[in-house]
Amino acid sequence: MCTVPMSSVSKNSYIYADNAATTQLSVVAYASMTSFLVDEYGNPSQPYAFSRPVKRALREARESIASCINADPGEIVFTSGGTESDNWAIKGFALRDDMMREIVTSEIEHHAVLDSCKAMSAIGHRVAVLPVSRTGVIALDALREMSLGDGSLVSCMYANNEIGTIQPIGELCDIAHSKGAIFHTDAVQAVGHVEIDVKAMGVDMLSASAHKFNGPKGIGFLYIKDGTPLAPYANGGAQEMGRRAGTENVASIVAMAVALKENCDAIEANAVRLGRLERLLLDDLAALGVPYRRNGENQLPGLMSLSFAGASGEMLLHRLDLMKIAVSTGSACDGANTRVSHVLKAIGLPEAEAKETVRISLGKHNGEGDVHAIATALGKILLRD
Ligand code: PLP
Repeated sequence: MCTVPMSSVSKNSYIYADNAATTQLSVVAYASMTSFLVDEYGNPSQPYAFSRPVKRALREARESIASCINADPGEIVFTSGGTESDNWAIKGFALRDDMMREIVTSEIEHHAVLDSCKAMSAIGHRVAVLPVSRTGVIALDALREMSLGDGSLVSCMYANNEIGTIQPIGELCDIAHSKGAIFHTDAVQAVGHVEIDVKAMGVDMLSASAHKFNGPKGIGFLYIKDGTPLAPYANGGAQEMGRRAGTENVASIVAMAVALKENCDAIEANAVRLGRLERLLLDDLAALGVPYRRNGENQLPGLMSLSFAGASGEMLLHRLDLMKIAVSTGSACDGANTRVSHVLKAIGLPEAEAKETVRISLGKHNGEGDVHAIATALGKILLRD
């Protein structure tokens, strides 16, 4: 028998403030997935009655996700997460025929995008990289000045995972379209946290990942606007409208839809609450006399990239860990990598300052007590040393 965890705030009183790396699975989402693991385990592609509830759950999940981002259900294709969605958008675009394509991206993208572009460049596609401002805003003018042919791709992230800067996606998309290009956005950090309307923005493809919005890990989706030219991700069965063969991860898809709906229904309230928690933390640091610099502008709710002069981010992460507080130095997917973050470098931080940076990312399970504890802990470490 499956049991639902009672709550959820922290494990052994650990303060988890690395929600840009991953989030805690919503208890409601968890409850929604269990029956599809043990009771309703039919293969959704089968025509008999036993599979009907599973097929229906899949359809309803697709409809619910589509309505959260103002898409049509047939434009949502389930994937294994953000990395797969990004790889598919770029490689599926470039490899759909034998033409050499032009791909434009920005220097602050996640490695799922940057490395996909590199792989396409290695086989002859042309890749150009847009610079960013000192606060991490992608240079609109640089894109405007580019001469792009019809059938090129522009891929710019919706919001950055290290510094939180939200991009002018509508404008980037309009410029790309005015040049005949297709526009993809990696919205992995944004979906479920800020209002997303794919029709209003006009994007052709959008990547999302459930574990960033309190859904399960290893599941996500790619929005593909009707008519967008893209090679299938995997060949085989007819699942996912023939675009991604393979039996669907039904339980995780159902939970992803529940988690997204839960977050989207409370998007405004969550953003206001996280904004207040951010303010409390920064006010606490100021009151304690801890000098800091915040990187980025117009950041995602709850995401703070803070540089502390003279203190190593690596040291701060480990000292906070000993005090049962989890934060990150750069991007979490780079946790084992001690190279200086390409994002901090791109916004012009000298290497020494980049190494003095931590990312604190608050989520919906954090409260006032957590932010006071984080500020107090930082004060203890930084003012004593
Ligand atoms: N894109 C961005 C902006 C991310 O922050 C991440 C994960 O940190 C990814 C893509 C990769 O997503 P996933 O962990 O679902 O593969």
